[in-house]
Amino acid sequence: PFEVLVIGGGPAGASAAIYTARKGFSTGIAAERMGGQVMDTMGIENFISVPYTEGPKLATALEQHVKEYDIDTMNLLRADKLIPASETGGYHEVVFENGASLKARSLILTTGARWRNLGVPGEAEYRNKGVAYCPHCDGPLFKGKRVAVIGGGNSGVEAAIDLANIVAHVTLIEFDSKLRADQVLHDKLRSMGNVDVIVSAQTTEVTGDGEKVNGLEYKDRESGETHRIELEGVFVQIGLVPNTEWLKDSGLELTRFGEIEIDSHAATNLPGVFAAGDATTVPFKQIIIAMGEGSKAALSAFDYLIRHEAP
Ligand code: FAD
Repeated sequence: PFEVLVIGGGPAGASAAIYTARKGFSTGIAAERMGGQVMDTMGIENFISVPYTEGPKLATALEQHVKEYDIDTMNLLRADKLIPASETGGYHEVVFENGASLKARSLILTTGARWRNLGVPGEAEYRNKGVAYCPHCDGPLFKGKRVAVIGGGNSGVEAAIDLANIVAHVTLIEFDSKLRADQVLHDKLRSMGNVDVIVSAQTTEVTGDGEKVNGLEYKDRESGETHRIELEGVFVQIGLVPNTEWLKDSGLELTRFGEIEIDSHAATNLPGVFAAGDATTVPFKQIIIAMGEGSKAALSAFDYLIRHEAP
């Protein structure tokens, strides 16, 4: 058994494990894929103090930093079930899909999230070649260009407002017959001169020239007609889904969106179980935030362990 077991090997998990190892606690990390979402990222320009890096490079740097410490790293392990300790200070258990299980007095859950995909032709092919998911990350790459935002909920409309300040033109595309975002966001969006809104529109394809995106096709759900828009970028904003399905029925509190409820100390409702990064209710999902949150969760785990002896 470990004193601290971290589930998830993205920025939040790596940061948490380094912090608890530095406190001298026996620490393990189990992750389905070390590196997490960073592995799917091309250019990263907002990891402060590093003006430019690339996803796989940052993921390697995370792993190397983890290797500097006596941390038991277990890759390709998918957690399936959490069995909380029966008493405060006791051992929690995590059961994995392959049937193995691990125990620790403190857990740090950092299983991240995934962007919901459109699932249309061209989306996967042009990912990072015009198809993007994070306006805070990739917005500046489209300076002076034409983009579409798919999704008229709060995140889609926020993205459109954000991008309209940077790019030449934004087309917001919503499947439903009206936008679902808050009125104040609607009003702001309508006040911007370089935004078109198209409702009742089903995106059917992202097109490209083999190298990068050059357009988008959608079907007008009322007339049935297909239309084409020429553009250079497509931001998909139809939801960020936390990887927390495995925690249902464990007694751990999740929001109705599936995010792990944490307080300002990264504590969950279960004593000794902490959580950090995109899987949680932390506002804004970014690498630098996930790392900060991971270190916070680790310091809270330290506080917990020095106050609660093993039973
Ligand atoms: P993740 O990175 O999602 O890591 C989760 C970890 O948990 C992974 O190791 C995963 O394999 C593991 N896991 C999941 N489920 C299980 C399970 N059941 N059992 C075991 N392990 C599990 N942010 C920026 O700041 N700048 C950028 O430029 C940027 N660009 C991005 C580009 C793309 C294409 C994407 C997808 C995201 C981008 N982000 C960017 C967001 C950033 O990657 C995330 O905010 C950050 O990775 C979150 O870190 P995390 O550790 O919370 O979760």
